[in-house]
Amino acid sequence: ERFNIIDLINEVVETQEMRAQKHKIKVVFSQANAIPIYVNADKKEIFQAMVNLVVNSIKYGKQGGKTHIEVMEMGDKYLIEVRDSGIGIEKDNLPRIFERFYRVDKSRSRNMGGSGLGLAIVKHIIDAHEQSINVSSTYGEGTSFSFTLNKATNT
Ligand code: ATP
Ligand code: MG
Repeated sequence: ERFNIIDLINEVVETQEMRAQKHKIKVVFSQANAIPIYVNADKKEIFQAMVNLVVNSIKYGKQGGKTHIEVMEMGDKYLIEVRDSGIGIEKDNLPRIFERFYRVDKSRSRNMGGSGLGLAIVKHIIDAHEQSINVSSTYGEGTSFSFTLNKATNT
């Protein structure tokens, strides 16, 4: 299905405004008023994946921090990035974060709700689209998740 990813991200940001405020984090999408960008994907699933990533960026963010969302053109695809200035993930733990029920100890001991399924669902959705997802993180500084989507063919 063909849809405008700009609109979808605006909707995701709106649904997380309360949570962001509570954690004193700003979710910044500087392309909020940009011209439409059409992708070809399952809209409901991509919405879910984006919510899971944005929720994580808030839950594991730092007070006063920011989450940046960006859409970039990459050949015949778009790259969607969710980047936070949060607690980060230690290098040793990075390979396991897409596993079901996997949670990094420190964040669990922060008494943060969750079951460790959010990222497994994101990975499942992106895999089902035959797209790729990447994570990079610097412990103590922040984390960036990015995944690709196919451009929609015109008309
Ligand atoms: P759920 O999403 O099911 O409510 P969860 O957030 O613990 O629970 P995931 O979203 O799968 O589960 O994330 C797995 C673990 O990866 C988290 O427990 C956390 O330790 C770590 N993590 C995920 N996203 C981030 C992030 N943006 N910054 C730092 N750590 C993160
Ligand atoms: Mg989560």
